[in-house]
Amino acid sequence: MRKILLLLFALFFVGVNMNAQETCGFEQAQKELERKNPKLKQQRLRVEEQVRQEMQSAAFMQRVAQLSQNAQYKGEIYEIPVVVHVIENRTGTGNTSTNQLTDAQIQTWIDNTNKMYAGTYQSPNDPNKSFLPAGDGIDNSAVIPFKLVLAKRDQNCQQTTGIIRYNCTLPGYAEYGMKRSGSNGPSEDDIKGVAKQWNASAYYNMYIVTGFDGDFKSYGSMGYAGFPTNSDAGYRTVMRAPVVTNPNSTTLAHEFGHSLGLYHPFKGANPLGNECTVNNDCKKDNDKVCDTESCQSVLSVNPVPTNQEINPCTGQNYQGVQYNVMNYGHRLVKFTPGQRERALAMFMASRKSLTTSLGAKPVENNNTQITAATCNITGLRESKNFQSGPIKVVLGSINNPSSGYNLNDAVSYIDYASNSCLNSSFSTDIPNDTESTLKVTIKGNSQTIKAWIDYNNNGTFEDTEMVAEENYVSGGGFGGNGTEYSLKFTPPADVTFNTPLRMRVAADMSRTLSPCGEYRCGQAEDYLVKIIKKENPTDIKEINKNDNFVSYNSKSNQLRLLNNSTFGEYKIYNMLGREIYQGNSNSNVISLNKSFVKGVYILRFEQKGKAISYKFLK
Ligand SMILES: [Zn+2]
Repeated sequence: MRKILLLLFALFFVGVNMNAQETCGFEQAQKELERKNPKLKQQRLRVEEQVRQEMQSAAFMQRVAQLSQNAQYKGEIYEIPVVVHVIENRTGTGNTSTNQLTDAQIQTWIDNTNKMYAGTYQSPNDPNKSFLPAGDGIDNSAVIPFKLVLAKRDQNCQQTTGIIRYNCTLPGYAEYGMKRSGSNGPSEDDIKGVAKQWNASAYYNMYIVTGFDGDFKSYGSMGYAGFPTNSDAGYRTVMRAPVVTNPNSTTLAHEFGHSLGLYHPFKGANPLGNECTVNNDCKKDNDKVCDTESCQSVLSVNPVPTNQEINPCTGQNYQGVQYNVMNYGHRLVKFTPGQRERALAMFMASRKSLTTSLGAKPVENNNTQITAATCNITGLRESKNFQSGPIKVVLGSINNPSSGYNLNDAVSYIDYASNSCLNSSFSTDIPNDTESTLKVTIKGNSQTIKAWIDYNNNGTFEDTEMVAEENYVSGGGFGGNGTEYSLKFTPPADVTFNTPLRMRVAADMSRTLSPCGEYRCGQAEDYLVKIIKKENPTDIKEINKNDNFVSYNSKSNQLRLLNNSTFGEYKIYNMLGREIYQGNSNSNVISLNKSFVKGVYILRFEQKGKAISYKFLK
């Protein structure tokens, strides 16, 4: 009887304390995804093992040492474009919390989260929820070098606020919000039918719903997120509306933490507390981070123990794990350097494309309109998940790792060319008269690799437009990082210059391979290539001492017309012939922007209707 009473008391106590706190459905959501697609688990474990080995290397340790000096982070802060899908309910019944979220509230919420990552967040109403100052000690918060930025261009390169609102009229949404473990309301997939996920290689997708399974409270399970090793469809976060307006909510910092590759420090133990994690090998056990000591969830422990108190899981003083954002609890105000290192390594291993995405850059008038292909890959003869297709393509500024055709929801054709406005690594300029090297990496079984460039820009890949071919070459097996093939080519003289052209790179476990039609089990990827016609050097004059027409002064960084006429409209090209600047000078002086790096440039302007080109060295 006494036991039962104690148990009842404990349950009541846990219940009461838990109620005020935010928890997370990451583990359950991830388990569900991996049950539906067991390859995801293999992928996660494989990348984690790769990252564990990489993190032991001397090169990694050296990089970490360079990034962290005097307990302060010195490295780059990576900007991640985000799109916020707000799932409203305008039916006039049920819960309408998402309808009331303003753009300004969403912006403040993201700003607050970025301050949490920077270790500078100050709570407006609870000093206890202000973050520990940036630094490496147990009384500091390690800087997590990521910054969420609302998208400024959409997938079609049109201007956007990055906040997209949908009126969800799906049955049950008004009454129950989204279905998770219950049986009412639309599922995540149903909601994504209304609010399509944006290209996950260019945007991090955040969904805000009214509630889960009829629960609209501002505490309890507030959201979940996908691990970086997930396929694109599972790389997103879904959260309930109240987290946006609660200035002390750490849910977004926590959920994106999972999407950076971080686990709960109590992983493997009861998330409600009272159970310690096993931490025999901190690199392999529980959260796989060594400076989050063995612990229990502190969800229902209030007041929160200080670092002067004993952590029952280690028998020694707490080292700050009770304050960790990836924990549950009443005061979550810090990250650790170990979490930063793991987040960087895990994220870069799977989601590096988000760091080169142009999604958060304002729309420019860049010429990226590209001719559509007249035919594509129609499907696969054998849709078994062999590892097949390119896993990395490199040419000039194109540098695009991908998973190839491997996972259940993989596709046999990806059009990066039409999305080149989203990522600087989907397009490149190449010279017209010198050799270029296309590098294609494959993995697994033997495959045939081919590439074509639509040189005449008619939408069709003719036989004469094949630029590279490797017949049935080894993929190097399933372990490791695959095998890279370097394919050299020089564009012929009669190509379409200075115009976006489509390049198709394909690999398949087949001895024959065409640019279109049905493949065996591989993949084709399209990229944008511009072939830049070099200036004819004989037309370009050098600026030198003997010239009495134009001068360049490197100290003042100014070009000057010596005959005192005006430059008017002018353009500046790099040596590849690519226009990098255009302007209009009403005087005889052009002041160059400071952002010009050292190098050789070509200035072109007109005098009396005649084009004049000058080469100068900055
Ligand atoms: Zn979590």
